[in-house]
Amino acid sequence: MGLRRLSENMKKPELLAPAGDLKRCRTAIRYGADAVYIGGRSFSLRSRASNFTMDDIREACAFAREHGSVIHVTVNIIPHEEDFDGLREYLRDLQDAGVHAVIVASPAIMKLAREAAPKLEIHCSTQLSVTNADAARFFRDQLHADRVVLARECTMSDVRKITAVCEAQTEAFIHGGMCVNYSGRCTLSNRMTLRDANRGGCAQSCRWLYHLYEKDRELSDEDLLTIGSRDLMCAEWIWPLMEAGVSSFKIEGRMKTEYYVASIVSAYRHLIDEIYENRGPLSDERMAYHRRQIMFAENRQTCDGFYAGRADEKSLIFHMTSNADVNHDFLGTVRKYSREKGTALIETRNLFSLNETVQILSPYGIHEDFRITSIKDAEGGELDVSRRPMVTVEIPVPFEVHEEDILRRVRP
Ligand code: SF4
Repeated sequence: MGLRRLSENMKKPELLAPAGDLKRCRTAIRYGADAVYIGGRSFSLRSRASNFTMDDIREACAFAREHGSVIHVTVNIIPHEEDFDGLREYLRDLQDAGVHAVIVASPAIMKLAREAAPKLEIHCSTQLSVTNADAARFFRDQLHADRVVLARECTMSDVRKITAVCEAQTEAFIHGGMCVNYSGRCTLSNRMTLRDANRGGCAQSCRWLYHLYEKDRELSDEDLLTIGSRDLMCAEWIWPLMEAGVSSFKIEGRMKTEYYVASIVSAYRHLIDEIYENRGPLSDERMAYHRRQIMFAENRQTCDGFYAGRADEKSLIFHMTSNADVNHDFLGTVRKYSREKGTALIETRNLFSLNETVQILSPYGIHEDFRITSIKDAEGGELDVSRRPMVTVEIPVPFEVHEEDILRRVRP
């Protein structure tokens, strides 16, 4: 059987990125996100990652509009009676601010949003655990949902079936953190810390370090253990998800850094565009290139999640060292470029040295690697190593770069 191809008129899926504040929102859009999801200061999970005032939301919408992107806002708490105070006005304000969609986890909030702010699209949050076509159809037919965000626990076969029969658009996760418990149904944090995971307070108890005992015999005498999941990484699943007709590809991580947002959005932007232009899967060589770009981001160890049909012990992180296994490739941000001198002022983040091979990540593309031939501090003194974070140093760059471009280490 030959390879199946996308039909000529198939729409390119939306790349949907997370942002915890206005700066990261602009970064996501500059690096190619078609849509960005953010949280306001109320009615949203991940309340600690939600730094958007209503003014910020307005500004985000204006920036998105200028760049052909849109803003989704999470209104995804599991509301108790007292949580409805001010919600109607809040939904109206979001509509007036120019928000495209609200991501909602409660049928009551869906109904309210339809009445109070009918121009907002309603997206069923992944917290609703939609894993079958009937559930998707229910939210579409009874609650007029425009889109269903599929549960991370869906297999590829579930995704295909739901997308084929449901009139609502489907959205699927392609990258980022996974819950080891059923997403949206975990009370580990509630029990252990009295912080309600389903009202934005998850203390990430599954990622803490534990001693493992069988009765009074310690089984983990050498290493402390976590019970957390590996992160989802879907390079290999982009083509099948596209072929299934999924409308939106979602990256998780509103708590993540600006570097993470830039590198992960850029990596998936290029991968999706290339597959779409090719109208079919890429060669092994091109996939290896894209996987490498994705792994530049600060990932934990990664897995395929549930798409392959199971999430066995290989999808878990057991050891403490693995849980913090993030890289230090983010070296700094370009603050200014001088064409005359051929140098860039870099605001530093992580240590780098003379003769290291580095790279510039830019919304305009990824440039050739180059070697650092000089590092000067703010007083013009020559350095062998730039050690201090958040200071400005000057380095020669053999091509034009732009403010906010990112300097990163090249991995072997
Ligand atoms: S404790 Fe872990 S599994 Fe539970 S909600 Fe938090 S991140 Fe998810």
